[in-house]
Amino acid sequence: MKLLVTGGAGFIGSAVVRLAVGRGHEVVNLDALTYAACLDNVASVAQNPLYAFERADIRDRAALDRIFAAHCPDAVMHLAAESHVDRSIDGPGTFIDTNVTGTCTLLEAARAYWTRAGRPESFRFHHVSTDEVYGSLPADPSVKFTEDTPYAPRSPYSASKAASDHLVRAWHETYGLPVVLTNCSNNYGPYHFPEKLIPVVILNALAERPIPVYGDGSNVRDWLYVEDHADALLLVLQQAPVGRTYNIGGETERSNLALVRSLCAILDRLRPRAAGPHAALIEFVTDRPGHDARYAIDPGRIRRELGWRPSVTLDEGLERTVRWYLDNEAWWRALQARQGVGTRLGVGA
Ligand code: NAD
Repeated sequence: MKLLVTGGAGFIGSAVVRLAVGRGHEVVNLDALTYAACLDNVASVAQNPLYAFERADIRDRAALDRIFAAHCPDAVMHLAAESHVDRSIDGPGTFIDTNVTGTCTLLEAARAYWTRAGRPESFRFHHVSTDEVYGSLPADPSVKFTEDTPYAPRSPYSASKAASDHLVRAWHETYGLPVVLTNCSNNYGPYHFPEKLIPVVILNALAERPIPVYGDGSNVRDWLYVEDHADALLLVLQQAPVGRTYNIGGETERSNLALVRSLCAILDRLRPRAAGPHAALIEFVTDRPGHDARYAIDPGRIRRELGWRPSVTLDEGLERTVRWYLDNEAWWRALQARQGVGTRLGVGA
């Protein structure tokens, strides 16, 4: 298959690009290279004849038309987005521009290309979204997000992703565009941009800086190793019926505080600290405004219908991730110089 992957220089998009090229797909990586992008994420496939890169913004219709005409993809995997909740609190406008307007522009470019090609049934527009569109769950472990959970986004980021999900479904219902959608829980793993929780914990611990935990650390997240997410995305793209939505999650809920303690324990083993356990660096800081209490995915549909399961447990994945950061200092040092990284964002001031 020939895939047009948007956001392929980001965290999850680059995992999709690496996996897809590794499995023999042709991949065109379309990315505007914002502050969150890093082409080193795809360095392992950059010289592969199956890979091409196009620097373009998903809001630029003329550029999109040119790229569709030049590459003639069989499918679009749409991951380009503004993705950091804290930044969406400080500056929601960019999130609306890229995640809503950009998705609309991409849908229109895809529709025009698909129409010109004779509306092939085999074409797919795959929208990669988040479980945060469903809002916040109570503590009761029997309650989880299913594909039928009503939308109730609570941050500018999740509201913009909910809007883009609605647009994608509307383009299917109204114009017949063959779409599939996925809503995934929190990802982690190699190449995670150093403003997100897990890299912040690892890098602050290594630098002997306080490890910030928002509020009392009781907020629960359901973590999935990024390479398992990429595997699920390729499966959905190739096997899901048109119009279908799948929730993707690892069934590995953990409170933020427990997660941070797990990372500290791994670092204590792999990089012992002379001054004592890394957990001594934990510092409770002002909570995020509107901080969702709990996310948890019921992945029953993707298991039953497509037979997908994650391959990595949370503890294995966290250990792999810590080892990756220890082995790839040049990668994260370069990104720490990017605007806003290492400073507290999203306090709603
Ligand atoms: P990321 O911030 O690491 O990467 C986003 C990429 O999109 C970057 O390379 C950036 O340059 C590119 N981009 C941003 N604006 C663009 C524009 N206007 N035009 C073209 N490219 C643009 O994000 P991520 O964490 O890899 O997330 C990828 C997708 O997966 C997003 O749509 C996000 O909503 C979704 N998602 C993320 C998670 C998670 O835990 N990170 C979970 C579920 C779903």
